[in-house]
Amino acid sequence: MTTLFNIALPIPGNKLYTYAIEHDDSAESYIGRRAFVSFGRKTITGFVIEKREDKPDFTVKTVEEVLDEKPIFNANMLKFCKWTADYYKSSLGEVLKTALPQGILPESMIRITLKKHISTETMLLLHKKYSKKADLISIIKSLEGKETTPARLAKRIGSASVSTILDALINDEIIECEPVRSKETTSKTALILLPHSKRLKTANDFSASYLSLQIKSQKQAKLLKYVWDHTINGIGPLQSSALAATECNHSHVQALLKKELIERQQGTIDRNANKEETESLAKRDESKLRLTTEQSEVCQVIARAITTAAFHPFLLHGVTGSGKTLIYIQAIQEALRINRKVLILVPEISLTPQLIDRFKLVFGDNIAVTHSGLSGGERYDTWRKILRDEVKIVLGVRSAIFAPINNLGLIIVDEEHENTYKQDSKNPRYNARDLAVVRARIDDAVLVLGSATPSLESYYNAKSGKYTLLEIKNRADGAKLPFIDIVDMISARQNKKVNGVFSEYLLNEIESRLKNKEGIILFQNRRGYSNMLECFDCGHVPYCKNCDLPLTFHKPKNQLRCHYCGHTIYVPSSCEVCGSKKIEEIGSGTQKIEEELYTLLKEKGIEAKIARMDLDTTSKKGAHRKMLTDFSSGKTDILIGTQMVAKGLDFDRVSLVGIVNADSQLLIPDFRSSERTYQLLTQVAGRAGRGGKIRGKVIIQSTHPNYPAIKITANGKYLEFYQEEIQKRKDACYPPFHRFITIEFSGTEAGKVFELAKKYSSLLPRNTKYFEVLGPNEAQLFRIRNKYRYITVIKSNKEYDPSGKYLMHYLTAADSIFEKEKNKGDFTIKVDIDSYSSI
Ligand code: ADP
Ligand code: ZN
Ligand code: ZN
Repeated sequence: MTTLFNIALPIPGNKLYTYAIEHDDSAESYIGRRAFVSFGRKTITGFVIEKREDKPDFTVKTVEEVLDEKPIFNANMLKFCKWTADYYKSSLGEVLKTALPQGILPESMIRITLKKHISTETMLLLHKKYSKKADLISIIKSLEGKETTPARLAKRIGSASVSTILDALINDEIIECEPVRSKETTSKTALILLPHSKRLKTANDFSASYLSLQIKSQKQAKLLKYVWDHTINGIGPLQSSALAATECNHSHVQALLKKELIERQQGTIDRNANKEETESLAKRDESKLRLTTEQSEVCQVIARAITTAAFHPFLLHGVTGSGKTLIYIQAIQEALRINRKVLILVPEISLTPQLIDRFKLVFGDNIAVTHSGLSGGERYDTWRKILRDEVKIVLGVRSAIFAPINNLGLIIVDEEHENTYKQDSKNPRYNARDLAVVRARIDDAVLVLGSATPSLESYYNAKSGKYTLLEIKNRADGAKLPFIDIVDMISARQNKKVNGVFSEYLLNEIESRLKNKEGIILFQNRRGYSNMLECFDCGHVPYCKNCDLPLTFHKPKNQLRCHYCGHTIYVPSSCEVCGSKKIEEIGSGTQKIEEELYTLLKEKGIEAKIARMDLDTTSKKGAHRKMLTDFSSGKTDILIGTQMVAKGLDFDRVSLVGIVNADSQLLIPDFRSSERTYQLLTQVAGRAGRGGKIRGKVIIQSTHPNYPAIKITANGKYLEFYQEEIQKRKDACYPPFHRFITIEFSGTEAGKVFELAKKYSSLLPRNTKYFEVLGPNEAQLFRIRNKYRYITVIKSNKEYDPSGKYLMHYLTAADSIFEKEKNKGDFTIKVDIDSYSSI
């Protein structure tokens, strides 16, 4: 039988393409499977979306191959991805591709081999006459038979006529071209060891053999136990190559094989298994704790919603240290009890090893962790396990919102206010926190958004009844919230009560905590040594030549680096403007603070162990974890760091938190900067005084002590901050009242980019009540990586256009007009719905 299907391809544009599939089983069973189809001159992998009922008036090609035996997207996932594509103005194919591990969308490629040896002289001659031909031959040589595509070759030699040159080279019998399919990530097989299927069936069989072996050979007994434990405890079968860890060798394997106690065969292995064990950062199994009254009330409400198995969104607003993790654990247990699965989203995996350890201690192998630190193969295995219902709980960063979980009953979004949930670098530019609401609705699941400092958007939704608000006002284990003091740095400086970046007050507190062996965290929102270098005589600051941004000073290498594009230069010996030799540091990064503190303490005769935690010191594998372990055990006294120390750390011994400079975030020109400052400061402050024995103290050093974001952090009244800030948002037409959309236009020719930006923006009407269009204007970061950027901002009024459909209608129209323009030259347009950045 032949049926026509509409297929989504992983390319831009909101079109589906029709192909025919010849099949025996039901047509419906093909929906959600991958299909290898020819498209233009290539063959690529798309996704079967729906049957096409009408007869098209063009000839339909047949799908070359259907790649899956069963759908990899179920109906709910297709619906979810469709919603995502429509809302974030992405193509359905692009969204489906995002939802999959990399490397499973094969495409047609070519493998080129040189048939002749070409001498250096011939090459030189060729270079003079046909330079592109010579370039292509060198590239082919360097590929050494690796597969490629004509498009990639065209990019490398900078010419579109690659096919013609290739044809000529084939004609001259210089090369041979063979079509191949790109490598696809698949399951890994290896030799594995299993308990003998006939002789060792039950635990009793195993014990008997184990005991009798122990008398004869300790090593053999050990190996048998290892194989048994591995297979039975669901770690997966033991790879024979993983023997090293067991102190056993090949002869022991042979002996057990001969005794028919184990079997060896080729089998699928899990690349995530057999990983080195690291010391857990969890303090204890929290599921055994007795709930506080507040906790137990909240848990009951959530549990009730989970049992009804219907969509229900909650906002859990609990102060830092209120035990939100325990509430998550209880909710997860409830979902598992009624046989539904769970998704936990966290802002960043590498920054939250402690949280993961806490969940792992309770749920063990039921939980699968997905993140960008995994290799392609590891990620593939995790994805496949989820797809096959082999895990009950998935924990991951924003991309995990697309995990193929069947029968999803609960979604938890921890620290829901974090902006890492927003993907803004590529299509689809989604916010996983917002998509969690959509997915929970489609899957009839319960959603828990948790935070000590909810985003204004979520709190507004809770106040207006869209979400149920759950509040916990007290810390869990009898601990009190810390005292928070603000030091006005301007007047401290005037009164000469400042040493470098440290106020006398903070320094004295550090000294006394050190005496008591209590832990200290110092927070500075900037890594490196100091922020920038400035000419003492003319005030010139060295800028990046690609990005129009100040370069950051990195002292150990005496370099200036651009944090955007990586451009690096040595520190100039004199000012490039006035020639002065007096070039000085302004601002301070973590590294400078570390050095200053060390010197100041030394002058007082105090030796302290200081550790610095930022991107520069934690890039090595395991470094971050080690730093936390050392700090937790008291091997280090002071932990100085960037945002990394703000997130989720739960150590009892921290009694003092110092915020060295509270203002840096505040001065960024963005409507969310005040909200972010408040959230960041409150989160850092929340690391102090956990554990109940010592009342924690937080010292905030600021040059703007009267700004609400700083003042209210000190009094801890979230509601006061919310009311202050929400009014400003309303007055200025920002979220949650309006949708905030940015359209970025960029390219290498500023004038041309501006013209096209104006043309695009003029397609959006200016005098409608549904939305307001501002710009195009030069972006604040006008030039990045040699591209000029213009930005048009749209504020879409939710009162008149709640779903945003009017705006979407105009955006889609403008997009289709610009479809051709976009593919010409280097002009790009990025539409970012619910944008988090306007600079
Ligand atoms: P949050 O995420 O809300 O900041 P955590 O989940 O990290 O708070 O909990 C803070 C600390 O309080 C943790 O060490 C946790 O084990 C502990 N804790 C939570 N609930 C209880 C409880 N009911 N009894 C005792 N300790 C608790
Ligand atoms: Zn100068
Ligand atoms: Zn740069």
